[in-house]
Amino acid sequence: MPPPGSATPTPLNDAARRSLLGVPAPGTAATEMETMRDGLLARGITLKRYSPGEQRMVCPKCGGGSSAEHCFSITIDPDGQTSKWKCFRATCGFQGGYTVGSPYRPATSRK
Ligand SMILES: [Zn+2]
Repeated sequence: MPPPGSATPTPLNDAARRSLLGVPAPGTAATEMETMRDGLLARGITLKRYSPGEQRMVCPKCGGGSSAEHCFSITIDPDGQTSKWKCFRATCGFQGGYTVGSPYRPATSRK
């Protein structure tokens, strides 16, 4: 049975791409493979695109303050596997990083 959401008519190409990226083939990992999108979503971050490069947007934590400025910067590495983000508002300071395949770690919260 093909994986859900697989729109490519040639699954062999996808498998070849996965091996090039060093991504384990489906079924070999004990847990389901997480994508950059999954990892960021789990941290409350939704992006317009998940391709490498820097993006500026309204911070998902503080909302950019009263003027809703794009104070939040996130950079995805050229390999698309690692991302780092930071909010430039001193009162917020939301920052972190995520690497695809790394175990889920809840964001540090102040108590
Ligand atoms: Zn913020």
